[in-house]
Amino acid sequence: MPQLEGQTALVTGGSRGIGRGIALRLAQAGATVVIAGRNRDALEEVVREIEESEGKGFAQAGSVAVAADAQRIVEASLEATGRIDILVNNAGITRDGLLMRLSLEHWHEVLDTNLTGAFNMTKAAVRSMVKQKSGSIINVSSIIGLMGNAGQANYAASKAGVIGFTKSIARELASRNITVNAVAPGYIETDMTAALSDESKVLMLKGIPVQRFGQPEDVAGVVLFLASPDARYITGQVISVDGGMAM
Ligand code: NAP
Repeated sequence: MPQLEGQTALVTGGSRGIGRGIALRLAQAGATVVIAGRNRDALEEVVREIEESEGKGFAQAGSVAVAADAQRIVEASLEATGRIDILVNNAGITRDGLLMRLSLEHWHEVLDTNLTGAFNMTKAAVRSMVKQKSGSIINVSSIIGLMGNAGQANYAASKAGVIGFTKSIARELASRNITVNAVAPGYIETDMTAALSDESKVLMLKGIPVQRFGQPEDVAGVVLFLASPDARYITGQVISVDGGMAM
């Protein structure tokens, strides 16, 4: 029997990049996967991909930054599948700029999506996990949340915040048989990193001991592990998936 048969996973930002990779991997492992994001057409595309490989998927459009949307996404997921066993808070954005030029608007936009988004989704989903006395929450942080990065004060603060959030709710929910962990990817090839100049990519590669950029699948495998029964004694941890970049 596939590892996650009978379970439902809700993956935010599942329309592309790392979230899409996670959604496909969890579906492959037998989970029914609900993917959320703001662009319905892009989500439907991934659902089609899941169905083409005999998996089960649903799309729920909405913004994690809006509490009412998060609530609606969770309610619709529960209605469609009856349960949420795995929540992957992956939706994220960047609005880079050096501090002197960083606008309050860009500060809030990033914090609202990356940190408040995880809060909104977790708050909406956790009640059903408590009721069913099991669950696994996996938050996508970043090595930038551990190391900091010039030009990314807003992003680094949001991702460091995700780590504090992860550890706090891991403590709150451990006795309810709910684990909460974070993954901290390094440089993963997606739309988010495609915008970087060739010059900074060459520089970045020099700092990666395994000498290659990561792929969404590299992160997806770790998320699958954290969602699986093999990880049931792991909670409150941050696992870097970065080819050794931040060690
Ligand atoms: P990406 O390719 O830009 O994808 C971002 C995803 O998040 C999209 O599906 C996007 O869909 C969704 N999203 C953005 N804002 C949203 C909102 N308000 N509500 C719901 N969904 C939203 O980025 P990625 O590289 O895959 O990154 C995924 C996660 O990994 C992010 O949290 C990112 O910070 C983290 N990460 C990435 C890297 C990297 O190197 N790529 C490294 C470390 C951490 P819509 O735009 O349609 O809403």
